Amino acid sequence: MKPSLNELGKLAKDTHIETKKYFDKLKKKTPKKLDYVMQDIHDAEFKRTDCLDCANCCKTTGPLFTSADIERISKYLKQKPQQFIEQYLRMDEEQDYVLQTVPCNFLDADNSCFIYDVRPKACREFPHTDRKKFQQITDLTLKNIPICPAAYNIVEEMKKKLPL
Ligand code: SF4
Ligand code: SF4
Repeated sequence: MKPSLNELGKLAKDTHIETKKYFDKLKKKTPKKLDYVMQDIHDAEFKRTDCLDCANCCKTTGPLFTSADIERISKYLKQKPQQFIEQYLRMDEEQDYVLQTVPCNFLDADNSCFIYDVRPKACREFPHTDRKKFQQITDLTLKNIPICPAAYNIVEEMKKKLPL
């Protein structure tokens, strides 16, 4: 069962140390079948997940925007890339373009995305739990678990299916 957004913060906090230890072991002793198992768990979770009931990623974090994202989205909005940057983005400490404010400007009241067809790559791929070589993005996953109920469930399922 998926935790509600109210429960998620506490659950993520309660499991943080255990999950971190699990990920440390995963990096040292990566199972050969990791990518296949993660793909199955990810697909099963997103079959029963309706992101339109949630949108917590769009409300609380927002994506990085690559140059290709900026080109594509500004074209869709009939803006010049520089205009788009000035209106919506700022550069973070790591010199990546991110949203000036959250919730994301492109999130509608019904949790749909105004720019869904051209949305940033990071939005399409979030929470990245089907990424190949998942062991390389465990730090990012630890940050995403308190935001995304699906990521929380996927990691809990992963611990059961791939005990280390
Ligand atoms: S936080 Fe996770 S479950 Fe919620 S909308 Fe984003 S990807 Fe979907
Ligand atoms: S661009 Fe769309 S999918 Fe991405 S954070 Fe904004 S509303 Fe969500």
